[in-house]
Amino acid sequence: MPAPLTPAPFDHWPRYQELTELLQGWAAERPQLLTVVSIGRSHEGRDIWMCEVTDQATGAAGDKPAVWVDANIHATEVTGGAAALHLVHTLLAGHESDERIGRALDGRSFYVVPRLNPDGVELALADVPRYVRSGVRPWPLPTELPGLHSSDVDGDGRILSMRIQDETGSWKPHPEHPRLLVPRGADEEAGGPYYRLLPEGHLTDYDGDIIKVPPSLAGLDFNRNFPYDWRPHSDQEGAGAYPTSEPEIRAAVQAVVDRPNITCAVSYHTFGGVLLRPYGARPDDDFPPADLRAYDRMADEAVRLTGYPRASVYHHFQYEPKTWMRGAFDDWIYEHLGVFGWTTEFWSPMRAAGVDVGMRFIDWWKDHPIEDDLKMLAWSDNEMGGRGFIDWYPFQHPQLGPVELGGWDEVNVLSNAPFDRLEAEVAPHSDWAVYLALVSPRLAVRSFTAEPVAGGTHRLRLVVQNTGWLPTNVSKKAIEQKAVRPVEVDLELGDGAQLVSGLAHTELDQLTGRGGAISMLGWDAGHEPSSERVRVEWVVEAPAGTVVRATAQHPRAGVCSAELTLA
Ligand SMILES: [Zn+2]
Repeated sequence: MPAPLTPAPFDHWPRYQELTELLQGWAAERPQLLTVVSIGRSHEGRDIWMCEVTDQATGAAGDKPAVWVDANIHATEVTGGAAALHLVHTLLAGHESDERIGRALDGRSFYVVPRLNPDGVELALADVPRYVRSGVRPWPLPTELPGLHSSDVDGDGRILSMRIQDETGSWKPHPEHPRLLVPRGADEEAGGPYYRLLPEGHLTDYDGDIIKVPPSLAGLDFNRNFPYDWRPHSDQEGAGAYPTSEPEIRAAVQAVVDRPNITCAVSYHTFGGVLLRPYGARPDDDFPPADLRAYDRMADEAVRLTGYPRASVYHHFQYEPKTWMRGAFDDWIYEHLGVFGWTTEFWSPMRAAGVDVGMRFIDWWKDHPIEDDLKMLAWSDNEMGGRGFIDWYPFQHPQLGPVELGGWDEVNVLSNAPFDRLEAEVAPHSDWAVYLALVSPRLAVRSFTAEPVAGGTHRLRLVVQNTGWLPTNVSKKAIEQKAVRPVEVDLELGDGAQLVSGLAHTELDQLTGRGGAISMLGWDAGHEPSSERVRVEWVVEAPAGTVVRATAQHPRAGVCSAELTLA
């Protein structure tokens, strides 16, 4: 029996110190399965930890196809971090007891970065929190502009809304549910009381009349800082000064390109309860058709396991018409490297409350009936013990005087799964990560034989095959971008042996996978050539008893070898 494994926490969000100790503890508890490495340091100098998970008894992580998972590139999206820890724990715990996980760790590897942005998360988890989009480096403003800055002014650990009675305010109480504010009529000039709604925060340089809400000093969005389709801040807010200008993103990009065995990648975010894929700024017609089919077939398994719909950022996740999302991780890893990449947006409070947003993940926030607000309010009251919507309570504000604090707790309840359902929410996504590992290409020796020819010469014949579902190149895009090497075979001969014909080092082509099989009622009736197999032949001259060894390798399909003793 292996030593007990420390459980992953699902009743609180671990801060950096606890996260570090947890990962190091797991590495000590399962040294054969887990290595924790630092892929770089954050702006404030925190190590960015990556868990390398594989069964080292069957080969090093780099010699096997691998799935990449990162989380918490965005500071407050801590459900993603919990999901990444769930994945690592599931792999370690299931190695011996779960057949699929055992196979995945024997023949594949996982690279899991549970907290790509440790600085921003640490701020979000502080006793008196501050919420930033990504990291804490001031950009593009060098110093803070005057105005209202979001902060936890009453020090209760939450950042809510402030409401102030104001004759020009846009809001008024709902007639039957007065704590819910609804828009004042467009033609409504008198009546009231009316309210102004503001973020909870403190004011600098307040003149008593004008309340500006300036952009955050921490204006970076790390998930706009990747090298593909990067655009400057004027086109893409938060993009940074140039692609990979941020140390966290430079570390991630370097870690990925240093690991050419990665075949699929998932970036864990919140929220929306949806699985997103590229492109951010191009329609689906721009994909090589085979890649689009592969993308969607793999995502179909996520839909089955998690209940989350699958969607394209371009077609279903635009913030404004004709405003595209650029410089994101999944776009980069697919377009530059030909690796299938997704973005998982965990948790949908609307779905939990019985509000159907359909595929309007962003649009719903801009336009929905007040009945949806009431359903959400009832859900907060009845299922969340009132923790979702906080009823207004008086507060003496240092600059504004008497105000009321309350409203939706956006970070703790809307954009992250509550603790009592956190584990159930993330668990199926770990199953999908295992599935993504198991569909990778995998090289195997089908046969390696020798046949005597004449006078101490032998004909050697090696047949190598891809036993995986994906082709060895993984995607058509990888070939288009020249991002992937072919299958390579090396023949090693013992002392006294020499090659008569054939090459000691042979470069072959890519091998297909099983992904083309969809239905017998398809083109070619589902018939398939054996294009997942390839044969290499040599003639060698060697004394009896010579040991010859053939090794086939492919960066995305692993390594395999076979040995023969010549008669
Ligand atoms: Zn995000």
